[in-house]
Amino acid sequence: MIRKFRIIMTRVSRALTRSGLPDIDYALNPYMGCSHGCIYCYARLYTRNKEISENWGMVVAVKENIVDLVKREARFTPKGVVGVSTITDPYQPVEAIYKLTRRSIEILLEHGFHVSLQTKSTLILRDLDLLLRHRDRVDVGFTITTLNTRISSFIEPSSPPPPARVEALKRIAEKGIETWIFYGPVIPGLNSDVETIERILQIAYTTGSKVLVDPLRVKYFMLEHVHPLYRYALATRAFDWDLFYKRVFELCREKGVECIKGFAEPSSPPTLDRYMKT
Ligand code: SF4
Repeated sequence: MIRKFRIIMTRVSRALTRSGLPDIDYALNPYMGCSHGCIYCYARLYTRNKEISENWGMVVAVKENIVDLVKREARFTPKGVVGVSTITDPYQPVEAIYKLTRRSIEILLEHGFHVSLQTKSTLILRDLDLLLRHRDRVDVGFTITTLNTRISSFIEPSSPPPPARVEALKRIAEKGIETWIFYGPVIPGLNSDVETIERILQIAYTTGSKVLVDPLRVKYFMLEHVHPLYRYALATRAFDWDLFYKRVFELCREKGVECIKGFAEPSSPPTLDRYMKT
């Protein structure tokens, strides 16, 4: 078990990869691993480097040749929407040093790509000048799981606190850049309550953001007794998602906020077997 944060350098053979996500053509992840260290983060399952995946949040790899690859690939890759990032936060603290996100998106925007950014970090404000120059081909999503800083520091221990995210979202939205809120993962018993939903919808209404609602997908690592989400993972199995979504969409309609389901939702309570396979 590594206890001290470590940055390692790595080289990769491709920058843009085909994305399986809706509305996103390519994924770009300038870093491997994420020091925000959210306890629910699924990205560890898609990270082949064992040192990173087994010490999630404590080891981050910097893809030192990624900007050169973006330069080359941007020339011959058909234009489309690039999701930045899909399995790391593009504005996690190392970005303040290496600026791989900034340098990569600058190239992509100059070559006519649309860039869709998702973050929890206020560091994105550093790049407001660049985003503004290309505002018609940029959208920015902030993950806001809760407005309760106590809950946030439990599930997202090293991420900027929710009020800071909200302020950053407001600053970006007021500049006329398209914004959205990712309300996910929804963890039954933790951030699935009406007060949380209403507060998030109020922010969405104020900033003109749409809201993506995404349920917790229980993964095998959450089902270990020692995992902090263990009891919530079990509770998720019996949670009435249909009722939850019904309530969410009623509130969205009342508020006049566009809400959509995130990447997918469990249509029926998944079984333990299905959890264990993922
Ligand atoms: S910010 Fe995103 S990528 Fe980083 S640990 Fe949290 S959920 Fe994972």
